[in-house]
Amino acid sequence: MYAFTFERPASLDEAAKLAAAGAKPLAGGQTLLASMKLRLSAPEQLADLSGCPELTGIRREGDALVIGAMSRHVEVANNADVKSAYPALADLASRIGDRQVRAMGTIGGSVANNDPAACYPSAVLASGATVVTTKREIAADDFFQGLFATALEEGELIKAIRFPIPKQAAYEKLRQKASHFPLVGVFVAVYGSGVRVAVTGAGNGVFRHAGLEAALTKSFTPESAAAVAIDDSELNSDLHASAAYRANLISVLAQRAVAKALG
Ligand SMILES: Cc1cc2nc3c(=O)[nH]c(=O)nc-3n(C[C@H](O)[C@H](O)[C@H](O)COP(=O)(O)OP(=O)(O)OC[C@H]3O[C@@H](n4cnc5c(N)ncnc54)[C@H](O)[C@@H]3O)c2cc1C
Repeated sequence: MYAFTFERPASLDEAAKLAAAGAKPLAGGQTLLASMKLRLSAPEQLADLSGCPELTGIRREGDALVIGAMSRHVEVANNADVKSAYPALADLASRIGDRQVRAMGTIGGSVANNDPAACYPSAVLASGATVVTTKREIAADDFFQGLFATALEEGELIKAIRFPIPKQAAYEKLRQKASHFPLVGVFVAVYGSGVRVAVTGAGNGVFRHAGLEAALTKSFTPESAAAVAIDDSELNSDLHASAAYRANLISVLAQRAVAKALG
């Protein structure tokens, strides 16, 4: 490691001031510390968010679940309110990475990082959730902006994510054996206004699939998902899988997710 200073603010106000002055927020360090070790990131100051009580806690607010940014994956997976109101979200959290990653990784860190193969962004986007920050509220549709890019401004911190509770939902992924990240993941969520489908791992960042959404809003069945042709022209092709393979996975995982949501 190279030299840097480390602060542990005891309140969100203090953390926001440090971030506004250029400190890099540190959540569970599952991405940030690894990228510092690799010299891909070299902040001069870290602001550890784990001492800010305002960023913790999971609560139900009417028809929504509000999850504090510093909630660890294991907390979301085991929380009684999440398990009863939004079991698909608890299930997603319970299958992120491995035990160590789930013990340290946070929902805020995952969403801020916006890794193109991360699980949470697909739930946030498929739920039409709201990202609550120190400055404003950002709709999921406006938040994710491609490879590791989000609408967050310099110094802006995620406080919480507000998820509207769906009627039915499910997440299916194919795990990469080495990293445990999804090769492709598909989250489907049914709301009164229609079905939302978000795909991770297949493109330049998480995205909604209009064809699957239209078909599943008409008829929420695996057969309906199977009938949708998945265009592979803008999907990733790399040493792990071709674009055509990823397109096939989107179809298969969407069918499985619908079957799972139907119970
Ligand atoms: C081996 C391994 C396997 C993994 N497998 C999966 C997987 O299967 N699925 C999956 O989804 N993820 C996976 N992850 C990622 C993991 O779940 C973490 O959530 C992710 O690495 C982010 O880490 P973190 O929460 O510790 O945030 P950090 O690493 O501390 O921070 C990540 C970034 O977010 C910024 N940040 C953090 N909190 C905030 C905030 N509140 N406001 C603004 N910016 C903030 C930081 O400054 C940094 O830029 C895996 C990670 C590892 C190491």
